[in-house]
Amino acid sequence: MFKSIVTPGKYYQGKDIVDNLFKYIEFIGDNFAIIIDRVVYNFVGKRIEDSLINSGASYSVIMFNDESTEAEANRIAGVVKSKNVDGVVGLGGGKVMDTSKLVSNICNLPLVVIPTSAASDAPCSAASVIYKEDGTFVKSSRMKRNPDVVIVDTMIIAKAPVRLLVAGMGDAFATFYEARACHESGTINYTGGRHTESAYALAKLCNEILLKYGSEAKKSVEKKEWSESLEKVTEANIYLSGVGFENNGCAIAHAIYNGMTAVLKPFPVMHGEGVAFGTIVQLVTEYLVSGSWNDDEWKEVTEFYKSVDLPLTLKDLGVENPSEETLMSIAEATCNSGSNAHKMPFTVTPEVIYKSLVKINDLFD
Ligand SMILES: [Zn+2]
Repeated sequence: MFKSIVTPGKYYQGKDIVDNLFKYIEFIGDNFAIIIDRVVYNFVGKRIEDSLINSGASYSVIMFNDESTEAEANRIAGVVKSKNVDGVVGLGGGKVMDTSKLVSNICNLPLVVIPTSAASDAPCSAASVIYKEDGTFVKSSRMKRNPDVVIVDTMIIAKAPVRLLVAGMGDAFATFYEARACHESGTINYTGGRHTESAYALAKLCNEILLKYGSEAKKSVEKKEWSESLEKVTEANIYLSGVGFENNGCAIAHAIYNGMTAVLKPFPVMHGEGVAFGTIVQLVTEYLVSGSWNDDEWKEVTEFYKSVDLPLTLKDLGVENPSEETLMSIAEATCNSGSNAHKMPFTVTPEVIYKSLVKINDLFD
């Protein structure tokens, strides 16, 4: 069996770097289709347009309709094909990233992504998540290529809502625990091989940065200010989390999220918040199955969650007093949500997950 690691082609991160956008993408060409949602357009659209105009580049703006569905990707791909562009630029949150990846895949064009928040691990990977119109998870499919260029402006991240940064920390924090589970079970990663030592080290580094700088980074975004901590946490949320999950693998933390989207409708929270709760379920499951509770790790994780306000319980996700049926439905949907639940170094059944959900309720009652 071989080892493999894939990454985006180029990654740039820094304060106000979108003002020199063309410098980072001119190797692709000089005519781009920009996929953007309306909220983000009002926030940074003009700045991006000015930056391209000042550099002499051409562009077309295509508005995204809020949900990453197959139909939406096909609609936008039709528009992109009619524009004869050199590349696609996805500008916005996770769902714009997902759709931009599909569009670049359908049109066979280079892809530039510019995340406007550090809310998820979507920007760097070749995975695109597809949902139904109502937000239910349908599938995660792999594109032919990872994004060619990822550009992260940390001043934009500093000014985005703090909840987005915290959700991104939730998504990124899962990376190491899921990598560890995949390492122990010998699971093949998303790139077709076993994890490299480098990928595992990146997952560990992601965890260390969040534990050390997460709370400071949150404070600076609350003040809408840039800080060195924010710079580090942005890299953890976007680069280390993305490259980390893709090259190590996901496990229960993401399976719980996918399972919950099938049961809790409309899904009450953001991807990273759901995944953060999933990490809690994964750890409790590991402890219950192995019969040994890792007190030090549990303390470290729960204290971190409290320091940055990540959800520890279903109640924190807005699900008050879940019934036994709801817990069992989540457990069943988790096991049926694809392969992630089954990458653990032990057999995962709905009963195992159900017991963990009950245990978490009891722990924080
Ligand atoms: Zn994720």
